[in-house]
Amino acid sequence: MVKNKNRHLKTLDHGTLWHPFTQMTEYGQEDPIIIQRANGHELIDIDGKHYLDGVSSLWVNVHGHRKKEIDQAIKKQLNQFSHSTLLGVSHVPALELAEKLVKITPHNLTRVFYSDNGSTAVEIALKMAFQACQQKGLTKKKRFVCFENGYHGDTLGSVSVGGIDLFHEMYRPLLFEALKVSYPDPYHSGQGLEACRRHCLEKLEAVFREKSDEIAALIIEPLIQGAGGMIISPPGFLKGVRHLCTQYNVWMIADEVATGFGRTGKMFACDHEAVRPDFMTLAKGITGGYLPLAVTLTTEEVYQAFEAPYEELKTFFHGHSYSGNALACAAALANLKIFKKEKTLEKMKEKIIYLSKELKKFWDLPTVGDIRQKGFMVGIELVKDRETKTPYALEERIGHRVILRAREKGVILRPLDNVIVLMPPLSLTKRELSHLCGVTFEAIQEVTAKQSSRV
Ligand SMILES: *Cc1c(COP(=O)(O)O)cnc(C)c1O
Repeated sequence: MVKNKNRHLKTLDHGTLWHPFTQMTEYGQEDPIIIQRANGHELIDIDGKHYLDGVSSLWVNVHGHRKKEIDQAIKKQLNQFSHSTLLGVSHVPALELAEKLVKITPHNLTRVFYSDNGSTAVEIALKMAFQACQQKGLTKKKRFVCFENGYHGDTLGSVSVGGIDLFHEMYRPLLFEALKVSYPDPYHSGQGLEACRRHCLEKLEAVFREKSDEIAALIIEPLIQGAGGMIISPPGFLKGVRHLCTQYNVWMIADEVATGFGRTGKMFACDHEAVRPDFMTLAKGITGGYLPLAVTLTTEEVYQAFEAPYEELKTFFHGHSYSGNALACAAALANLKIFKKEKTLEKMKEKIIYLSKELKKFWDLPTVGDIRQKGFMVGIELVKDRETKTPYALEERIGHRVILRAREKGVILRPLDNVIVLMPPLSLTKRELSHLCGVTFEAIQEVTAKQSSRV
């Protein structure tokens, strides 16, 4: 019976679902994992096989699955109400969460605008920045500066400020044109940290010097470009960007959708360099990985550009059906409480050092070109040859084959092209970290050894 049901589910999966960011032709030839249950850091599929959640269910999970406090908070909220609009009406969990968010984010951020995913949080920041400039009389400020290789989501506005050609180039005819500058990437540019930082800041300043009166805002993934391959910017770069934005009167949007809620070892990436952006976008980890929720935080200055009698039409005409969903807000409140109660960030410190030590072992593999780590965000870049940094070709599907092997060994991962990503829940224990690294090591070793003997 169970066998028949499972076969039916797999047939349904191949015959009915269209999976995001997935080449379905390839997917159709592979045995799918269909998750049925979870426990702590493990996902369990319909065949009863257990998997360590090595990428936090795509960078969202924070304290593990079926976390008692979050489960209970959602159930408690269910007994009150599940959803009520924020369009012209308010509700309790949205207010309580807004108060907490204002407290824990940089002090200049005092206004909280809800939505339900990272891409829309970015759309909102872009539209707000643009409209605020228009309404402040800075009508020439219509453009945005973004970074090469950046990722801010998949809706057309956020794709317009994206810089990953593999994902974004196809849509170019549909997009608005942003000013693109380079993100400091020590490994691929071959430059030292300091030279790399200085070089990118100089280039940014050159753009500002020439065009700042046309620029509403700059958008950046602070400290680390996630989807672009876990590219870590040199120390001081973020602060340097903030200084230039201030100097040239350009607003700074910090997209903390991936880095927010402890992923880098501090609550927000901006905290590492005491940077105060003019907008901050948050999503992924906000509900502990339970429910879709996002926020765009901004300053009183931006907010005030929208204050006027209705007939002046300065309203921010934007909102979503499920903006600030109450169940999601309740989950987010519980998530933040756990950070405090369990001293999540405090406990991470030692684990981050432990993880660094585990990662050093990967240098024994000749196909590992670079190992990048910021807190619990890790990218292991695979190359054909470490000396020449020769990349694997797309058709070799090297990252994909490594994660398939890791899957056989009971770990779920998701690569970014040739970069193997580890981004475990913050509550992962040292033992689990060691297991995660061990399995990843073996998977890379086995797949890439086979690769070189075949060539
Ligand atoms: C994931 C991500 C987004 C998009 O968030 P979604 O919830 O997937 O729409 C935006 N910015 C960054 C930096 C991200 O990592």
